[in-house]
Amino acid sequence: MRPEIAALLRDDLRGLSAYGAPQLDVAVRLNTNENSYALPDEVAEAVIAAMAGEVKTLNRYPDRDAVKLRSDLAAYLGHGLTAERVWAANGSNEIQQQVLQAFGGPGRTAIGFVPAYSMHPLLAAGTATSWVGLGRGEDFGLTIDQVVRGIKEYRPDVVFLCSPNNPTGTALDLSIVEAAIGATDGIVVVDEAYAEFARPGTPSALTLLEAYPRLVVSRTMSKAFAFAGARVGYLAADPSIVDAVQLVRLPYHLSSLTQAAARAALAHAPALLSTVEAIKEQRDRIVTVLRERGHRVADSDANFILFGVHGDQKVHWQRMVDSGVLVRDVGLPGWLRVTAGTPEETDAFLKAVEGTA
Ligand SMILES: *Cc1c(COP(=O)(O)O)cnc(C)c1O
Repeated sequence: MRPEIAALLRDDLRGLSAYGAPQLDVAVRLNTNENSYALPDEVAEAVIAAMAGEVKTLNRYPDRDAVKLRSDLAAYLGHGLTAERVWAANGSNEIQQQVLQAFGGPGRTAIGFVPAYSMHPLLAAGTATSWVGLGRGEDFGLTIDQVVRGIKEYRPDVVFLCSPNNPTGTALDLSIVEAAIGATDGIVVVDEAYAEFARPGTPSALTLLEAYPRLVVSRTMSKAFAFAGARVGYLAADPSIVDAVQLVRLPYHLSSLTQAAARAALAHAPALLSTVEAIKEQRDRIVTVLRERGHRVADSDANFILFGVHGDQKVHWQRMVDSGVLVRDVGLPGWLRVTAGTPEETDAFLKAVEGTA
């Protein structure tokens, strides 16, 4: 950045780096937890038809409140949810940014328990919300005591929990979510981007919404739905939270094309989600093989696996890129993260990762 431009930047942004998962041209890309499967033809055709139906009327602004899409999302989520309790935006990143714009901001604090999703602190920075990243236990676990103590100490306005947690993959017990809500007077955001991949019996914080008006459950179509490129995320919460984010959202933030594409995709949810079981199989296969080879591996309820490597993970990361497999260095010394994709991608990964335990 030119020094004269850097000098004009907000003080709290100077020196920060932009979110930067490398988008490298590598044969096997297992670094951003996308769904490796392309949209099935029937879904692609439905999305194309729905978008084509919007083109002639692109002279008009979209439905500002995206009511039909929100109804469809509510129906997908179940739990008796309706459009009043659901809000949609361009990815759950935008959802979480809107939550921070409404409930964080200058003079306010958000906390999270790291390692967790690297966008949480960046969204806090962008909204001038102070960020406090508290640690986790040895095995990246989180206890009620840790969460409650952290909240009591920092009195945050917004608490971020992530379940299943990125980058560790492990889901949170709902008792921790309830303890967090009990300990704070602020908003608790549970980022459930990977909920669809959770093992059977893993409860969703959606089941707590009725009881807790300060709870926000954040979801996305970017992962299980194989729709990352469309940018569709959403939240479920009390209707007053939906009212609050409407104070800060840009008018017409969600284009007619996006709304139509998302609705068409949701109408084919079973077809789109049909890859989830296959991906979970690859996840479990990777966990089993890596453990057999002596790697430390975190339990995963998601479509990715955090695994330990011997020595400097940066060196192993580069060697794997050189052999055509892109995984993620999340900045944890001695650990790398890999996305579970197709069986062929697993084969390539398991070959490339040989000798790193
Ligand atoms: C991938 C991911 C998201 C998704 O963000 P979108 O903006 O919806 O694509 C959200 N939260 C976590 C923890 C993620 O890993």
